[in-house]
Amino acid sequence: MPGNKQQKNDQYFMRQAIKEAMKAELLDEVPIGAVIVHDDKIIARGHNLREKKQSSLAHAEILAIEKACKKIGSWRLEDCVLYVTLEPCPMCAGAILQSRIAKVVYGAPDPKGGSVGTCFNLYEIPGFNHYPEVIGGVLHEDCAALLKTFFKRKREQKNKIKELKTDDSSHLEHEKENGKK
Ligand SMILES: [Zn+2]
Repeated sequence: MPGNKQQKNDQYFMRQAIKEAMKAELLDEVPIGAVIVHDDKIIARGHNLREKKQSSLAHAEILAIEKACKKIGSWRLEDCVLYVTLEPCPMCAGAILQSRIAKVVYGAPDPKGGSVGTCFNLYEIPGFNHYPEVIGGVLHEDCAALLKTFFKRKREQKNKIKELKTDDSSHLEHEKENGKK
């Protein structure tokens, strides 16, 4: 069945995007990854590098789009499919539209900014000259689990630091009091 084959393909490429997300996590970046596929081949990969580059533009999709354009030698990515582990934000949804990408496949929906269906759908606003096809929810549990684990670890680290700081300050208070005597 062609539908099944497409699903298998989508899952295969989403797994590749998940691999990219894991690269981000190793750098202590929020684990989001993307790949761009042309003629069933990956032509570009990208993972979130916002912290490393200290740039709000360094999202996985933007970095992958830049690489794909270089590879193809054109800003038009008309026959390409972009796979990304998290639903694109407004900036990336815009860049996808601008680069004429034919289809976007995302993993987990993003309640905090997803712009192709969750918070709003950029591609339902009339007047643009290009509308990519969108498929959401491919391997969404795996994609979401990556983020969940990352943020849980971050929260635990934060609490640990807080705890250590409180220990420090109570120690200082204690010293102060002792000094007064
Ligand atoms: Zn983005």
